[in-house]
Amino acid sequence: MNQLTEPRCKPHHARNDIERVLIDRHRIDQRIAELGQEIKRDLDEQLVDTTEIVLVPILTGSIIFLADLIRHLPQKIRISVVTATSYPGATTQSKGTQIAGALPDDLEGKHVLIVDDILDSGGTIRLIREEVSKRQPKSLRCCVLLRKMIPQALETPCEYIGFDIPNEFVVGVGLDYNNYYRNLPDICVLKKDVL
Ligand code: 5GP
Ligand code: MG
Repeated sequence: MNQLTEPRCKPHHARNDIERVLIDRHRIDQRIAELGQEIKRDLDEQLVDTTEIVLVPILTGSIIFLADLIRHLPQKIRISVVTATSYPGATTQSKGTQIAGALPDDLEGKHVLIVDDILDSGGTIRLIREEVSKRQPKSLRCCVLLRKMIPQALETPCEYIGFDIPNEFVVGVGLDYNNYYRNLPDICVLKKDVL
């Protein structure tokens, strides 16, 4: 039975608000495993120098992607989180990226991998990349689960990309609308009347 039309779906269940699934959980798992292999291989090549590896996930949207990705990385890694907001509250329009709190200060001379959920205007990745590079890491790369197929996103430097998607507002797998829907296991488009 189609999971979206299943009659036992309770009124408060998040999936009632979904118009359609854009990328299902199996494709996501498979792609994250591939990305993990690619990153593992690249880190193994760098690791001849035994430099420490630090992942910098951008909260809150990257939490699920991060959790899935790091379980494919066998290296000794550290995690230093950074919090950024660009879609505060009930909005599907970026209000510009704000960093909340301090950036990690332990990145000098390290191999750093920034992890985010989605690359849209590129403002977030550009800002965090600039701030991290001021801390003089030995290497700096970026990994996102999704990238929108718009010029600003395609022009933003990012080494690892899970999926290129159409220019639509999506939720699930950590991505929210008004802080809901992060728990949806698929990447979904919401019904128009929910937004
Ligand atoms: P950018 O700075 O590249 O415009 O946007 C990046 C941030 O905006 C992402 O980390 C994410 O939090 C949020 N964002 C951008 N596009 C979407 C989207 O389609 N859905 C959701 N839920 N968040 C988005
Ligand atoms: Mg974000």
